[in-house]
Amino acid sequence: MRIAFFDAKPYDISSFEKFAEERNIKIKYYETKLNADTAELARGADCVCVFVNDSLDKETVDKLYDDGVKLIALRCAGYNNVDLSACDGKITVVRVPAYSPYSVAEHAMAMLLTSIRRIHKAYIRTKDFNFSLNGLTGFDLHGKTVGVIGTGKIGRCFIDICKGFGMNVLCYDKFPVKDSGLNYVSLDEIWGKSDVISFHCPLTEETYHILDETVVDKLKKGVVIINTSRGALIDAEALLDGIKSRKIGAACLDVYEEESDLFFRDVSGHILEDDVLARLISMPNVILTSHQAFLTDEALEGIAQTTTQNILDYFRTGKCENEVHLQNA
Ligand code: NAD
Repeated sequence: MRIAFFDAKPYDISSFEKFAEERNIKIKYYETKLNADTAELARGADCVCVFVNDSLDKETVDKLYDDGVKLIALRCAGYNNVDLSACDGKITVVRVPAYSPYSVAEHAMAMLLTSIRRIHKAYIRTKDFNFSLNGLTGFDLHGKTVGVIGTGKIGRCFIDICKGFGMNVLCYDKFPVKDSGLNYVSLDEIWGKSDVISFHCPLTEETYHILDETVVDKLKKGVVIINTSRGALIDAEALLDGIKSRKIGAACLDVYEEESDLFFRDVSGHILEDDVLARLISMPNVILTSHQAFLTDEALEGIAQTTTQNILDYFRTGKCENEVHLQNA
């Protein structure tokens, strides 16, 4: 089995090498992302292993198929970056449906606490021996209402954490979990009643820009928005306008709609072309991490273990329980 591994980072290589050696899988690592221009690097490989910002559009998939690639092994849960129709009947797609949901849920809470207790500001001040507290007033989470959109694995962990803080939790899910004891309400109730809103649903045609300018009008003044799911759930310009108009009190973003050319890279020596992102970053009440929520030892190990097992299962049996089927997408 020859694997072409795209968008490889040092932390990926160290977690994957352990399992690849044990399982006798040969991996060739490429720093570059996979797209139609780089697809030829996979020539001669049986499988490509890809992450969230690799582009598996029709042109790329067709090139991979022509070059004999049989399997796309996603080392993530989401598959919004894969044209499943183009893969249908040609290339099998497998993913990692679960790996430490705690990693993402805890990161969401870390960002929320950092934001509302102004830790990001205090850290910089005390480094400069500025011990003033002016402007650092926050608010208690206890007794506040959090709206959670998507009550799957990560959403449920986040809900448990919020309950631990004594928050009142409102939930919205297209497929509510029966007998869960969760308080499911309409999206409009989430928008209108929440002091904090956190997104944990997948990016689909239905959830694209689920927070847009029409929704901003419905939000409670001062709401804190957390997005650790996928950038395009939020219309970034509408978010920026909501912050400028003081309707949105703060934003904690681990993902951004146009992140694919920026995140996971050091572009500090370049001029940022994206004015919306630059303006968001310049805001004192916006915290941005670059798709980092999954990055814990436990999650990396889980990703490497499941991905290498998916590859073995597929090439040994032709089947894999973590296959992504077009009809289920
Ligand atoms: P999951 O499949 O367990 O849960 C997703 C939930 O969203 C399900 O309950 C589903 O019913 C619900 N849902 C589906 N369509 C919906 C809609 N239209 N409206 C509302 N809810 C809807 O997934 P998960 O493991 O909890 O992951 C959630 C998301 O987190 C993933 O889709 C992925 O985009 C993101 N994620 C981000 C990181 C990161 O590092 N930032 C890491 C892992 C996952």
